[in-house]
Amino acid sequence: MPRKLAHKNGMNSAPHQALRDVRLRIERAAHSVGRSGQDITLIAVSKTFTAAEIMPVLQNGQMEFGENRVQEAAGKWPGLKAKFAGVELHLIGPLQTNKAADAVGLFDAIHTLDRPRIAEAIAREMAKQGRKPRLFVQVNTGDEEQKAGISVAAADHFIEDCRARLALSIEGLMCIPPLSENPERHFQLLADIARRHGLKGLSMGMSGDFELAIKLGATHIRVGSAIFGTR
Ligand SMILES: *Cc1c(COP(=O)(O)O)cnc(C)c1O
Repeated sequence: MPRKLAHKNGMNSAPHQALRDVRLRIERAAHSVGRSGQDITLIAVSKTFTAAEIMPVLQNGQMEFGENRVQEAAGKWPGLKAKFAGVELHLIGPLQTNKAADAVGLFDAIHTLDRPRIAEAIAREMAKQGRKPRLFVQVNTGDEEQKAGISVAAADHFIEDCRARLALSIEGLMCIPPLSENPERHFQLLADIARRHGLKGLSMGMSGDFELAIKLGATHIRVGSAIFGTR
């Protein structure tokens, strides 16, 4: 899909500046609730942006990046990873079983475990490749029909199944609240489910709501447009 060029005149002219602003806002939101900004992992979501556009953000010390498509990430990240040691790549988009092998090979964290078949495929590939990406279960907190994520009703059982039957080490939960709703209730619901299971990781909050997410316990925020400009 061709991308609009409007961002060329916008925030993208200085993504490192935008990155600094986002980091400051993280610190402030964390301090406002007695947390440390260091406890929050900023994932810079670089989907649709080219290696050349990602480079200045890497050069400013950002090491955690998020992509939503395996294929797109496979095209641009191996080269960048070779140049920048320590890059951590997070898969934040829906995963098909036929991409599980590529995903396990390329990504350091997968935020979108959301059904038994994909969890089984990931477990198989982890054993085969000897790689251990960090894993998050995506919960469809709004129970939206078109959205990925395990339903709220099935979440408890799915998390237990991943751990017990598949012996997967689950780091936390992830959600994408419905666009049209106040995200607060969704962030709280995700935190509640995580607490029930003793899970520490909460991947929640995007450009429009990461400060609220931090106040409600986010450990990983996924921020795209506030760093890279509009897509
Ligand atoms: C694109 C995307 C983001 C980043 O969205 P912004 O609003 O640009 O910050 C975060 N999470 C997921 C799952 C995404 O697909």
